[in-house]
Amino acid sequence: MSGSRIVGTGRKRCAIIGQRRVYAAMKPTGDSISRVIAGDPEATIDRSKRDFLRAAMALLAGLNLPRTSLAGGGQHGAGGSGQRVVMVVFGGVRRAETFSPQGLVNIPHLSGDLLPQSLFYRDARNEGVTAHFNAISSILTGNWQRVDDWGKLAPTTPTLFEQFRKGLGAAQSDTWVVASNKALTNLIGASSAADYGPMYGANVVFPKQLMVAAVANALRAGRSRNMADREKIEAELQSMLEAGNYEGLGWSVFDAAERLDPRVRGTIEEAITSFVRSGGPTSGDELTFLVSREVMRKFSPRLLVVIFSDVEVAHFGSYAMHVGGIRTGDRLSYQMWQEIQANSEYKGKTTMVVMPEFGRDPDGSTTNGFFNHRGDTESTRGTWMMALGAAVDKPQIIERPIRHVDLCATLGDLLGCPPMDSQGVRLKELRG
Ligand SMILES: [Zn+2]
Repeated sequence: MSGSRIVGTGRKRCAIIGQRRVYAAMKPTGDSISRVIAGDPEATIDRSKRDFLRAAMALLAGLNLPRTSLAGGGQHGAGGSGQRVVMVVFGGVRRAETFSPQGLVNIPHLSGDLLPQSLFYRDARNEGVTAHFNAISSILTGNWQRVDDWGKLAPTTPTLFEQFRKGLGAAQSDTWVVASNKALTNLIGASSAADYGPMYGANVVFPKQLMVAAVANALRAGRSRNMADREKIEAELQSMLEAGNYEGLGWSVFDAAERLDPRVRGTIEEAITSFVRSGGPTSGDELTFLVSREVMRKFSPRLLVVIFSDVEVAHFGSYAMHVGGIRTGDRLSYQMWQEIQANSEYKGKTTMVVMPEFGRDPDGSTTNGFFNHRGDTESTRGTWMMALGAAVDKPQIIERPIRHVDLCATLGDLLGCPPMDSQGVRLKELRG
């Protein structure tokens, strides 16, 4: 860590520095332990996942984007600052399980690898509706949204994607949302605002739904007969893919697509079959990460929003699994940063932001503590935000509270968007 690191002053500064010392003391072998936790991304992805990913990407390439925006691969609208933004959003995590003395053990990469090079806002507040669709919509529009909790209604003011695309002529392939969160719908990609809307919206992909539903169906088919019965599984996959309505499979994001290309369908079938046979459980966030990384490699979007949600297993009451989700998000955030450093389209010109959607309810609350995120409490509303990369002049810890709606105007400015109508304020520490 650099000796020139600038921190805030006062008791809180001491607290966070103290925490980091605690963490350092707990980390006997430094890099080696990081490697054990992080693994080698390539090595830890088994072949079936790679095949599935490849197939999913073939589907995206074949269906999700108009040919015109795919042509030339890296071609983008000319406008803008040349800067890129990758936003990583967790589901709900409390400060208690993350940036607190007892929580640091759950976030070794965020606290040990990334914090020392970051602009860290200790207190990033969700002052809106602490439900997933509204929280994400508020972050993406810079205005507190109060639309349907389950994504049946689009945000009412323009998203950053629309501002970016309309204001600067950016192509659709420049703006992506890749999300694990099942509370979101493809309406997260564009607003209902007049003069904006889906024609300026982002590509929205839900890899987890796509995979989980397909695999669940395949497993069901296998269990009812014989898992080893290859023909039956393949027949089931075939019928799933040929079905006119893909919504039940989580394919609704492709609802504007034409009939599947037979070659794409064949690849998908093969990959899913292979994936099913591998038999191992997988994390939705792992898949979201893999698809996001592939999107970066294939399309190099200038604005990518990745939404992890393994932590939301908390709704089912397993604290251990919730903490496992935090650890996964911690590791995948770090791997995302590593990808940015390794990818020449991103390295040196990308700002990555990591933040939770909100906290969770405090222990002992009437809403079952960490299970939920409904309380009007500090534990539910108080989160943090980390920024890394091009817009960060120097690592700092910012004590001043900020609000989730502040981010949109800030990132829009980094991308070169015209000033936008936002309830938030531009965060001056991030360099434009
Ligand atoms: Zn939730």
